[in-house]
Amino acid sequence: MSLDVTDWYNRSSSGCSCGHTHYGLTVDTFSIRNGALYELRSYLLDKGWRDVHLVSDAQTNEAAGEKLVRYLSEEINVERTTVLPDRNGDVIADEQAIMQVITEASREADVFIAVGAGTVHDITRFASHTVGKPFIAVPTAPSVDGFNSMGAPIVLRKKKITYQTQAPVALFADLDVLREAPRAMTAAGFADILGKYTSLTDWSFGAVMAGEPYCPAAARMTQEALDQAVSAKDEIRMGTSFGMEQLFEALLKSGMAMSLFGRSHPASGGEHHLSHYWEMAFLEEGRKQLLHGEKVGVATGLIADLYHGEVLEKVFRDPALDAGQRKGIEALIGQLPTGEEIRMMLKAAGGKTSLAELNIEPALYEKSKAHAHTLRDRKTMLHYLNTV
Ligand SMILES: [Zn+2]
Ligand SMILES: [Zn+2]
Repeated sequence: MSLDVTDWYNRSSSGCSCGHTHYGLTVDTFSIRNGALYELRSYLLDKGWRDVHLVSDAQTNEAAGEKLVRYLSEEINVERTTVLPDRNGDVIADEQAIMQVITEASREADVFIAVGAGTVHDITRFASHTVGKPFIAVPTAPSVDGFNSMGAPIVLRKKKITYQTQAPVALFADLDVLREAPRAMTAAGFADILGKYTSLTDWSFGAVMAGEPYCPAAARMTQEALDQAVSAKDEIRMGTSFGMEQLFEALLKSGMAMSLFGRSHPASGGEHHLSHYWEMAFLEEGRKQLLHGEKVGVATGLIADLYHGEVLEKVFRDPALDAGQRKGIEALIGQLPTGEEIRMMLKAAGGKTSLAELNIEPALYEKSKAHAHTLRDRKTMLHYLNTV
C-alpha cells in the first residue's frame, strides 16, 4: 500500500500541544497489500512465536482462516477457536464467546491471531488481554474502524460496554481477501467512516461547550480518513483494488486517531450512541443483529437531520447561550452535510440509508433519540437536545 502507517502516525501527531497524553503506536508491523497473509509465518518466526491461538468464525474460516492454518502449520503449532454463533446465527462479542476463546486457548500460546471482521477482533482483543498475551490482527473485511484500536466493545448481560484493552502488535490485511468480502460489509465500513462527520461535530461541540478533552491532531487525522474515503466512494462501490485500499487506509487512520488519544471521542458521537441503543434493543429482543456500520450510517443521516433541525432551533431559543456561542454552534452545524447529503453518499457506496431498510420501527428510533445519550457520559449535541 502507498501509506507508510507508522510514518503517517508520527507525522500527524508530532507538534500537537493539546496537553493530553498522546499514546504511541504499539503496532510494530503493518502490512496492507495483496498476499499479506503470506508474510505472517516469517513474522512469527522472527519473534520466536511458535505456538499460536487462531480465532475465527465459520465465515472467516472460509475467507482466510483455513488457508492461513494450512500455511502456518508447516512451521508453527496452531491451535484454534471457531467462535460459535448464537441462535440467530450471529457471532457476538459477548461473555460466552470470550469464555469460549479463553477456555480453548492453551497456556502455551505465545500470541493470539484474530482472523475476521470487527466482532472476531473484539473477542480476540478482550480474551488475549485478559490472559496477558499479545494478538495479531488479520482483517477479512473493511467493515469497521476498530481493528487497530485499544477499545473492545463487549456485550455483557446484553449491555454493550467499551473496554480499553490492547491494540494488536501487528496487522496483516491482505487486499486479495478484503476484495472478496461481502459487499454489505464494505458498504458498512464506508458508512462507519461517514459517521465521522457527526462524531467530529459532536467532539468540537463538547470541547467548546462542556470542556470535553480535545486533541486537534486526532481530529485532523480523523478528518483526513473521512475525506479519503469520501473521495473514493465510487471505487469503493465498484469494489476495485484501489477502492479497497483507500477504504482500508481510511479505517486504519480513524482507528489510529483513537489510539493516539486513547479514547473514542474522535470517531464516536451521537450517531454511535443511537447505533449502540438499537443494538442493545435488538439483543434484548433476541433479534438478528445488523452490521455495525449499517446502523452507524443510517444513524449519521438521522443525527445530521436533528442537528440541522431541532438542535439549531433549540440553540436559537436557549437563554443559557449568548450570541457568540449561538454563532459558533451555527457555524459548526453549517459545516456538517445535511441528512439528505449523507444518505446520497451512503447510497453511492451501495449502503443502506433508512430505518425501514434496517427494520427499525419508528417507535424504537423515537426512544433512542430521547435516551441514547445516556449510554455514554459525553456531551454531544444529542445530549444537549435532551437536557436543559
Ligand atoms: Zn464505528
Ligand atoms: Zn494532541
